[in-house]
Amino acid sequence: MQFEKKSIWQQIDKETNEKIYEYSENYKNFLDSAKTEREATNYIISAAKDRGFISLEEALKGKIKSGDRIYLNNKNKSVVLFIMGEEPLEEGLNIVGSHIDSPRLDLKGNPLYQDSSLALLKTHYYGGIKKYQWPTIALSLHGYFRDVNGIDHNICIGEDDTDPIFYINDLLPHLSKTQNSKNLKEAIEGEQLNIVVGHSTYGIEGEENPIKRNILSILKEKYNLDEEDFAFAEFEAVPAQKARDVGFDRAMIASHGHDDRVCSYANLKAALEVENPKKTAVALFVDKEEIGSVGNTAMTSMFFENALAEIINNMGEYSDLKVRRTLANSSVLSADVSAALDPSFKDVSDEKNEAQVGYGIAMAKYTGSGGKGGSNDANAEYICKIRDLFRDENVIWQISGFGKVDQGGGGTIAYILAKYGAEVVDMGTAMLSMHAPVELVSKADAYMTYRAYKAFMDKFE
Ligand code: MN
Ligand code: MN
Repeated sequence: MQFEKKSIWQQIDKETNEKIYEYSENYKNFLDSAKTEREATNYIISAAKDRGFISLEEALKGKIKSGDRIYLNNKNKSVVLFIMGEEPLEEGLNIVGSHIDSPRLDLKGNPLYQDSSLALLKTHYYGGIKKYQWPTIALSLHGYFRDVNGIDHNICIGEDDTDPIFYINDLLPHLSKTQNSKNLKEAIEGEQLNIVVGHSTYGIEGEENPIKRNILSILKEKYNLDEEDFAFAEFEAVPAQKARDVGFDRAMIASHGHDDRVCSYANLKAALEVENPKKTAVALFVDKEEIGSVGNTAMTSMFFENALAEIINNMGEYSDLKVRRTLANSSVLSADVSAALDPSFKDVSDEKNEAQVGYGIAMAKYTGSGGKGGSNDANAEYICKIRDLFRDENVIWQISGFGKVDQGGGGTIAYILAKYGAEVVDMGTAMLSMHAPVELVSKADAYMTYRAYKAFMDKFE
């Protein structure tokens, strides 16, 4: 029988169409409220608490049992949600693994300086960005620091319509003869991604760096921030733009950070709705995926394994073997975005094997680059079972190829969870303009991603 691809929009009824748009309103709210990993952690934990989740510390004081809902806050930058199932843990978990960090610009430790008639902030970009895309767009600053009195400050400037925004300059075309002859990768250099934060010297006395000193006095007055505090802070610049509907039909969403908030939000919504699953369901929201999943808030850290060991220890006699069995018997959806076919850049894709926006949750059996290098190549036996589930639950899916052979490639957290012996497959939303300041996804795909994760947590065996 011929394998036919059909768009979600051609297969749904009126009710589902309405659900897609309703889901998207809530997703946009998440995008606007959770632009950094810290804000996402906050949002996820507060939503989880409203739904009856208790912290792991709290849960460990009593006896954990099936039906319990538990969250782990890992250093305010990553979260795990557990929905305890009926079966013993050693039968394995159903895990959906997403990440909550996105490409952006981080401030350096000594960022503020004055040059010519401007005050600027030095940045170091985070993740795989195309540097030329970041000048001349509205930026906001999000961050955390502790002041001299030991008080914690979470700062967000540029998101409210009455806030100022921040800005990176680019060269005018009139003087771009040299820049125009450079390749895209070098036309804007990392050290040119300097953020304009001030200009006035009104009322400031003295000759030395009056603009910078003016900015410092504003920072002191408003946030009790001293210049030294930057060195101990975490500040991120992201696009100030809110998530917006795209197109006459409003069927897509443009926003910063769809990678990987489109999967994270679907993961969260599924986890909040799952009730008394047979197998324990786990929703992972990890940090630092965009820079290689390293560090103690990332997937290569032991925090998830440690949390699981605590739970196993709480529920009965502890053994290392029980932890290993639990992980090895687990099933994982690596919930990350993949590349969709772009009609303006078709030459990088094998159309027959590429995902398309609006055609359902995208399964990448393997990712990697140059001969599947670095990829988790999912086992056929495992993904056949996923296909059966999707068929039973009317989840619309498609395959994703991530570009032509030898054109490039990508990776996710899939291989890290596979290390335990768990079955893992990449299953996420196909999108356009990945890692651009503002990215594009289909509302139908976003909704179908949630439906897939929900079915997996509820029913996969
Ligand atoms: Mn991603
Ligand atoms: Mn990414």
